[in-house]
Amino acid sequence: MVSRVIPVEPFDLVVFGATGDLARRKILPALFRRFCAGQIPDGTRIIGAARSEYSIAEYRDKLAADLKKNTNDALCDANVLAAFLQLVTYVPLDGSAETGWPALCERLSGRGGDERVQVFYFSVGPALFEPLAERLHSYGLTSAATRIVVEKPFGHDLASARDLNRTLASHFDEGQIYRIDHYLGKETVQNLMAVRFGNMLFEPLWNSQYVDHIQITVAETVGVLGREDYYERAGAMRDMTQNHLMQLLCLIAMEPPAKFDPDAVRDEKLKVIRALDPVEPYHIVRGQYAPAPGAVGRDLNYRETVGNQRSSTESYIALKTHISNWRWAGTPFYLRTGKRLKARSSVINVMFKDAPHSIFGEEAGRHANHLKIRLQPNEGITLSVTIKEPGPGGMRLMDVPLDMSFAEALGPEGSEPADAYERLIMDVVRGNQTLFMRGDEVEAAWGWTDPIIAGWQARGDVPKPYESGSAGPGDADLLLRRDQREWRGINP
Ligand code: NAP
Repeated sequence: MVSRVIPVEPFDLVVFGATGDLARRKILPALFRRFCAGQIPDGTRIIGAARSEYSIAEYRDKLAADLKKNTNDALCDANVLAAFLQLVTYVPLDGSAETGWPALCERLSGRGGDERVQVFYFSVGPALFEPLAERLHSYGLTSAATRIVVEKPFGHDLASARDLNRTLASHFDEGQIYRIDHYLGKETVQNLMAVRFGNMLFEPLWNSQYVDHIQITVAETVGVLGREDYYERAGAMRDMTQNHLMQLLCLIAMEPPAKFDPDAVRDEKLKVIRALDPVEPYHIVRGQYAPAPGAVGRDLNYRETVGNQRSSTESYIALKTHISNWRWAGTPFYLRTGKRLKARSSVINVMFKDAPHSIFGEEAGRHANHLKIRLQPNEGITLSVTIKEPGPGGMRLMDVPLDMSFAEALGPEGSEPADAYERLIMDVVRGNQTLFMRGDEVEAAWGWTDPIIAGWQARGDVPKPYESGSAGPGDADLLLRRDQREWRGINP
């Protein structure tokens, strides 16, 4: 099945931080793939901006090399690549000073006036978010058709998130601010809403009467090398839990919105965050990766990587929380995320309760259904159902997966689902904020997170070491075992 391409009008997109890792690995390749799909029309202008002094030709050469590295070879036909590069220019510019801004204004002048959509993507460190917003305003680069995309981290705590929201709000309407969380752009995340609200099958069972518990796991194999300073200040709670895991939790737990429109969806997500119970200290496990016996390598050892032998920053977190509302009262939500774990895997497992009575007797075995939602790798959804073990030998039960892999089911052969950045950037151009976080959501998430962090800081908690390449600290298993439950395995 070939995905439908909805054309957009020509637009301008300025990528601040165009020489950085995110722009080179994700944003520009995403634009290129949309161009190849025929979605980016002639007349569109893509302007890279950063302090590095490149001419347009030099930047295009660099970009061509990046695109060859970061996109499928089959797309990089020389003519297509050349046509895309024609849309791209570069302006050396300092976001925290006045250098380069007149040149940017010049580049953006003409073509379509105030009607033309102009997107400014802040792919720079968070210290530059406010200076960029202020300069866009003071250089007259804002109109009703302006949209800004703000990368994470959105604040370091509630106070800083509020300050940032306030600054942005003094220059832009909320409808112009796109706080990006790329997890929300994943095909499976949107499918989660389609599965829940497009089928009669699941929603009647989607509550504490039928769901025993829910596990959300975001496991990474990479360490923090290359992002040491940022990570040492953030840790797994700020880097992953406050945003990505919280967003997934919201989508899993929210009530059906009245319609699939940005504010209706975000209102429901906000209600979930506001209904979250505070987390008890004994319901949190923090870990820090350390080398397995005999293993050597700086990036296997968190403290060595960040150059702080006394670091108390967590590279792993597991916690149990509850949502205090009618739907979820009594159903625990277990969240975990960590670096240097045994596999890269982002999965939500909805674990249903056992059938109330087994007509087959205990010897047949008991099998509860479970719905596994895979975000990466291999996006898809699996429902485990119970059937009879085939063959003679009496009635014994077993689980079989009903598996839907999106790459196999939905793409032309060999294709992958569109990358989250492709979808999200085009949503910005179309002016659809459904998959972006609203300011009050972000603040509510910090409001839940801040006391947890303050608690462990006040107690002087130190993260438990866990071996690089393992499933995390043993105490995380105890967190579930105390409730007679078990984590699902972390598998690629
Ligand atoms: P990065 O590799 O350090 O790139 C930073 C970019 O900002 C560079 O292009 C740099 O170019 C530019 N820059 C720095 N100071 C500037 C200034 N004063 N004026 C204009 N440009 C300036 O960082 P990144 O990894 O791309 O991350 C960018 C943002 O995305 C961060 O907020 C990060 O938290 C977020 N993010 C990144 C990832 C990722 O996978 N990398 C994932 C999620 C979120 P010059 O030195 O040439 O100025």
